[in-house]
Amino acid sequence: MNIYFAVIITSLIISWLLGVTSDFLNARAMRPAPPREFRDVFDTDTYRQSQEYTRASMKFSSLTDSFNTAVILIVILFGGFNLLDQIIRSLGLSTLSTGLIYIGALGLISGTMSLPFEAYHTFVLEKKFGFNTTSLTTFVTDRIKGLFLTGLIGGILVAAILLFLREAGGYAWLYCWGFAVAVSLGLTYVAPTWILPIFNKFTPLEKGELRLALETYADSAGFELSGIFVMDGSKRSTKSNAFFTGFGKRRRIALFDTLIKEMTVDEIVAVLAHEVGHAKLGHIKKRMFTGILKTGAIFYLMSLFLDSRPLFDAFGMEQTSIYAGLVFFVLLYTPLSLILSVISNRISRTHEYEADAFAATTTEYPDSMISALKKLSASNLSNLTPHPLTVWLGYSHPPVLDRIRALKSHRK
Ligand SMILES: [Zn+2]
Repeated sequence: MNIYFAVIITSLIISWLLGVTSDFLNARAMRPAPPREFRDVFDTDTYRQSQEYTRASMKFSSLTDSFNTAVILIVILFGGFNLLDQIIRSLGLSTLSTGLIYIGALGLISGTMSLPFEAYHTFVLEKKFGFNTTSLTTFVTDRIKGLFLTGLIGGILVAAILLFLREAGGYAWLYCWGFAVAVSLGLTYVAPTWILPIFNKFTPLEKGELRLALETYADSAGFELSGIFVMDGSKRSTKSNAFFTGFGKRRRIALFDTLIKEMTVDEIVAVLAHEVGHAKLGHIKKRMFTGILKTGAIFYLMSLFLDSRPLFDAFGMEQTSIYAGLVFFVLLYTPLSLILSVISNRISRTHEYEADAFAATTTEYPDSMISALKKLSASNLSNLTPHPLTVWLGYSHPPVLDRIRALKSHRK
């Protein structure tokens, strides 16, 4: 028995089973009435809708997961990776071009297969619950823009990695690491001005009560903001959000237009305060630092497996190559990636509690964070009672009920 084959197949099945189990437990954890804290924002009808939405979303993600797992298992068992390799090799191109086409083709095939699922999600599921505002034109142009960006950035990244691995010997992983980190920091730096505007319109928040309140808060917290922008989130969905982009002096906050529409000034200040908390408490730096370390560890691990003939045998490959090795390593990495994401979600949830506490203690009205969270969960039809396994596996934010209870403990 090929050990790589066993590890990959087992971990694909385990990760699928975990998803199915978590959905099952989640459905059982639903309660007939909303928790006490939410009775003012969730009436019976909204609560029933939120449960239906949770159920529909789970069914959808189970279906997608099952489909994807089945496809990848079939491709592995029937030698699909080798077949594609033979077809592309028959074109007689250079090793680098062959590698780029191989990885690009895999990306295109999986992207094309997920397209019907994405369309269903947007135009059927989200529409049914009144969230979708994406027009067909937006949907199509989003995909085209995404394809272009991924092709360009991914192409450069993969080409560099393939070249380093071929030319740089034992230290190749260090070069790959340095390059990948430089690209990712560069992207973060240009995202607010070059990348995000490709998909959304950002307009500076007009002068008025809200702007004044946000600026006053930022000043009082000793936080430098290079801009407050409104993003046309309503172009795709009625769901709302807020986020920071860029770093250092170029840091700006983007508020969804949908958020501004449904929240009071104090609630939006609380949302800003929460985000400022992430920055002030060093969460953003910590996340960046662990991300960089993780990238290094991945490249180092990868360098250990790339020459391993049994890894190629697991996929029935006739010839070995760096590019196929890269793809197989990603699959081999599945179990470790699952463990790491559980750990990083755990850390992220702790950070969310800390940022909430920061918002509650530094704003004038500590209860604004609570009412902001309640409004958000009602308008997004959030699942109020997720099962602990679901939270443990995939929640980057604590369940909203736990956040509210923690916030109440900060009342002076
Ligand atoms: Zn947060």
